[in-house]
Amino acid sequence: MPEETQGKSSAQAEGQGTTGPGPGPRGPGRPGGGPGGRGKFFRRKKVCKFCTEKIDAIPYRDVRLLQQFVAERGKIVPRRLTGVCTTHQRRLTRAIKQARNIALLPFATRH
Ligand SMILES: [Zn+2]
Repeated sequence: MPEETQGKSSAQAEGQGTTGPGPGPRGPGRPGGGPGGRGKFFRRKKVCKFCTEKIDAIPYRDVRLLQQFVAERGKIVPRRLTGVCTTHQRRLTRAIKQARNIALLPFATRH
């Protein structure tokens, strides 16, 4: 029988209109990290405070010291914001919890 000529002469000139996944005008770089980033904690020196002052055992009674690492609502500020090294952060956490237990610091400030 006759050959099935697939006469689909579909000369649809498509292709324009669909935006391909090609890279846009934006490069991989950040769009200019200007000042005024979020985060209310200033980035201090990247060195641990306790290492700098050579404080080995963190005094849990020193509330003014501990409050530097406690947020307003009583949360412990994460290490990346304070720059405290891992060792001292753990000691600091224990010190803060001890201070909480003797009611020097609030567990969480109710608002
Ligand atoms: Zn340290």
